Amino acid sequence: MATLLGCIADDFTGATDLAGLLARSGVKVSLRMGLPTEPPVDTAAFEVIALKCRTAPLDEALADVFAAYEWLKKAGAQRFFWKYCSTFDSTDKGNIGPIAETLMTKIGAKQTIYCPAFPENGRSIFMGNLFVGEQPIAESPMKDHPLTPMKDSNLMRLLQPQVSKPVGLANRLCVAKGPEALQQRLDELKTQGVAHVIVDAVANEDLFTISKACQDMPLMTGGSAIAMPLPMLYLEQGLLSADAGKTEIPHLADKAIILSGSCSAMTRAQVAAYGATAPSYRLDPLELAQNGPKAALDWLAEQDLADSPLVYATAEPDQVKAAQEALGVMKAGELVEEALAALAVAARDQGAERFVIAGGETSGAVTQALGINKLDVSVEIAPGVPWSFCETAGKKVALTLKSGNFGSEGFFTDALARLKELEAA
Ligand code: ADP
Repeated sequence: MATLLGCIADDFTGATDLAGLLARSGVKVSLRMGLPTEPPVDTAAFEVIALKCRTAPLDEALADVFAAYEWLKKAGAQRFFWKYCSTFDSTDKGNIGPIAETLMTKIGAKQTIYCPAFPENGRSIFMGNLFVGEQPIAESPMKDHPLTPMKDSNLMRLLQPQVSKPVGLANRLCVAKGPEALQQRLDELKTQGVAHVIVDAVANEDLFTISKACQDMPLMTGGSAIAMPLPMLYLEQGLLSADAGKTEIPHLADKAIILSGSCSAMTRAQVAAYGATAPSYRLDPLELAQNGPKAALDWLAEQDLADSPLVYATAEPDQVKAAQEALGVMKAGELVEEALAALAVAARDQGAERFVIAGGETSGAVTQALGINKLDVSVEIAPGVPWSFCETAGKKVALTLKSGNFGSEGFFTDALARLKELEAA
């Protein structure tokens, strides 16, 4: 069947998160890592294209988004979803707003919504302000993010400098009244010329209201959670038949590797917890700048991958700052990403068939190095973090890509255990 919803995600973990939530409904979801190189054939009802454009220069980001849009349109998509992080990772220059605005022009959409809320993961929006748990985002650890430090919590103030048309709000009081009230509010804002509408959501039920009110919009934008109800709504509308089909679980060797380039607070806790029980190696960007990843590769070569070792660059904010001051923000990031990518390839060549990767940018670098371009999305380990199956160098492997703040403290152990459960089922 032709593709119904064409999704473009700004990073690789964000794309897996979205694909995982869409797949919860039982529909088959296809996830493409990077721009597909072949024309669309036999596409799934839900296609997700993962780009690496969250912090890319805007002209490069726009070129990739257009190419992804054209591919999805050829696949039959008439509705589109622009997916970014639930922590609205962006700066005054973009890339969330400019991409949305240019996609709107391309699609001919007069209005779109912005809803990065993900209540199950503690991301909520109230009166246009984004919260992580009980903290406004600008008071959360996201204020220290290496690439997109979030210094304001108000989404309208964050978005306005990124777009040329007016930004407005449909608040929780309106969303709580249901889909019709929300539709009315959106229409009212449209007559006032408001093209970009932040929509409040604090609970799962709000997501259903918003999805229902907006399901016929040619373009929706948000975090992954706002797209979650769409498969069910399409089934109800008769646009989709329940021809789900199960993802096959391949036979996998027991060898695993855990690679972490995320410096988010949750990842720091996960690395500390896992490092206490398994072999682990810390990458230092300053050392990488001097001598490259050889020492880490030598360490890995001596490991028994059945012990599921961990290699991490994950560090405290003051260490990250010191590395960035010495090397530059981009250079420090690149050195770490290149090293983790090289370690992933080495681990595969040593027989690893289970890969746990932490960090959005990190995941992009690792999947690119492994030459992975299509994933079959399977069960979730934590909300928004599924296991997927794919091929690298002609071999089936399991891969999970975790965005920085997702999962709980025991995530790395939980992930490996969840895969074993799935294999045993
Ligand atoms: P998250 O999902 O938490 O945002 P990402 O992988 O997207 O994680 O981003 C983290 C960025 O920080 C990456 O570019 C990574 O290479 C970089 N990085 C990781 N460790 C360090 C470090 N110790 N010093 C400087 N930069 C680092």
